[in-house]
This record gives sequence, C-alpha cells and structure tokens, in this order.
Amino acid sequence: MSAQVQGKVALVTGGASGIGAAIVELLAHEGATVVATDIDESNGPKLAARLKRAGCDVSFLLQDVTSEERWIEVVAEIGKRHGRLDVMVSNAGISIGVPSIVDMSLQDWRRQTAINLDGVFLSVKHSLPLMRKHGGGSIIVMSSILGLRGSASLAGYCATKGGVRLFAKAIAMDCAQVGDGIRVNSVHPGIIDTPIWGKTPTGAAGAGQNAPIDPEERARIAVPLGRAGQANEIAQGVLYLASDASRYVTGTELVIDGGTNAGGVVRAQAASR
Ligand code: NAD
Repeated sequence: MSAQVQGKVALVTGGASGIGAAIVELLAHEGATVVATDIDESNGPKLAARLKRAGCDVSFLLQDVTSEERWIEVVAEIGKRHGRLDVMVSNAGISIGVPSIVDMSLQDWRRQTAINLDGVFLSVKHSLPLMRKHGGGSIIVMSSILGLRGSASLAGYCATKGGVRLFAKAIAMDCAQVGDGIRVNSVHPGIIDTPIWGKTPTGAAGAGQNAPIDPEERARIAVPLGRAGQANEIAQGVLYLASDASRYVTGTELVIDGGTNAGGVVRAQAASR
C-alpha cells in the first residue's frame, strides 16, 4: 500500500457505485480514512465491508445529499468519529435526458437540480467548518465535460454541471480570501463506463421512454482516444487533487475525457474506407 493521502479523512458522496466507488477504493488504498455515503443501502455497506476485509479504513453512512438535516448529522458523525475532515468529494449525481427541453417536467428538473447542484452546495456549506478547524483541506466537485459544453437532450444536466463548475471556482476564491488553506477544484469526466448510463432516460425511443445507452459504443464514435473511460481513471485525478501533490492547485478544472473536449478526430480506419 502506498500512501499519497495517508492520515487524511475523506468523505465521498455517491460512494456506492461507479466513479464514487472507485474514488472510495483508491483513496482508501492510498492510506485515507474514508467515509462513503449514498442512498444505496445495498452496495454501499458491501463496498465498505469488502475494503475493510482488505485492510482499509472505510465506513458507510446512508445519506441523501438533498437533505440539509442529514448533512448536519453526517458531518457531526465524522467529527465525532474522526475529529477532522480533510477531503470532501462531492460526487453524487444523476442524469435525466429528454428529446427536447419542452418535454422536461418541472419535477424532473427540480429532482436533478436538487441532487447535482443543491447537494453540492450543502456539501460545501456543512463540511467547510469542520475542514477549517484543522487548517485546511481539499474540496473536489464532480462536474462533467457537459459542464463545459452543451449536449442535445441533456440541457438540465448541463445546467447543473455548469453550475457546480463555477460554484467551485467561487468557493475557491472565498477560501483563498480568508486564507483557510482549503483548495476547491472541479473534475470533468467524459464518457465513463459506469451504471449511470443504464439509468439515464434519453427519450430517444420516444418521449418518456428509456433507450439503453452503451457508453462503449458511444465512445467509439465520440472520443478521440476511441474508448470509454474507466471509473478508476477518474479516481486517479481525484487522488491527485486530494493529495498534497496538488497543493498549489485551486479553482481549476481537471478534464479527464480521452480528448473529447479538445476536438474531434477522424480515425484512420474510417478515413481509409
Ligand atoms: P452512478 O450512477 O454509478 O453513481 C452515482 C451514485 O450517486 C449512485 O451510487 C447513486 O445511488 C448516488 N446517488 C444518486 N442520488 C443520490 C442522492 N440523492 N444522495 C446520495 N447519493 C445519491 O454514476 P457515476 O457515473 O459514477 O456518476 C458519478 C458522478 O460523475 C455524477 O455526478 C455524474 O454526473 C458524474 N459524471 C459521470 C459521467 C459518466 O460518464 N459516468 C460523466 C461525467 C460526469
């Protein structure tokens, strides 16, 4: 076991699945004490139990990130158990697609915004006081390349991910201004092969219907490196931002997307046809 975040206490929201689960695992293997939270009461405890058996210090707390009351309880519990919080990874998120924005219900708009944007606001509001008690730390907000560019059928999702991108920069400035030693950055994954793709309704097969999306198939067309990313490849970026190796990095955007946001390529195979 190496130790890039040895001695640090980390909270990871949405830690039961996909990118969050990979972050929990990597931070724990790199020496952190990790508290994973999620609404998934099946996979969250299983992940924590598996990592504990492997010698890691991981626990699971049930948490809906949209509940302010629960945020107060979760941060108090971490303070009681561990006495400090050094790394806050605000990762929980959902994605809701619609054929056109006119098909989006206000209820779905609000549900997605409550998790992706309000949840991030609450995470920062309630973790900052505990982080400040011990002289600083690192806040990492999970945005998306769809927080940098638009995408048909995902306007609401783009609005939340663009929102957290600038929210992170503003909090980075707040923290720098008071000199509390807290750095705040956003991470922008491209197409990553996680369960989110099976949960994302696109309405492509007709309004209100779920069309299954194969991330690998989509990535072969859309990603310059020609494949979907793996959750662990996002976790590696989060590890860098969580560790002291990034001590001079705040208010920035870490894009991990196989080149998607940089431009497009014509593959040799396709060009030779
Ligand atoms: P995922 O569905 O595998 O994991 C998301 C986790 O969030 C799940 O465990 C889910 O139970 C949890 N969650 C949902 N609502 C919650 C709530 N109200 N409170 C607490 N937890 C809740 O998806 P993922 O791909 O791992 O996504 C993680 C983050 O990465 C999300 O913010 C997503 O928008 C972002 N992202 C993913 C991709 C991708 O291609 N997979 C690309 C860009 C950004």
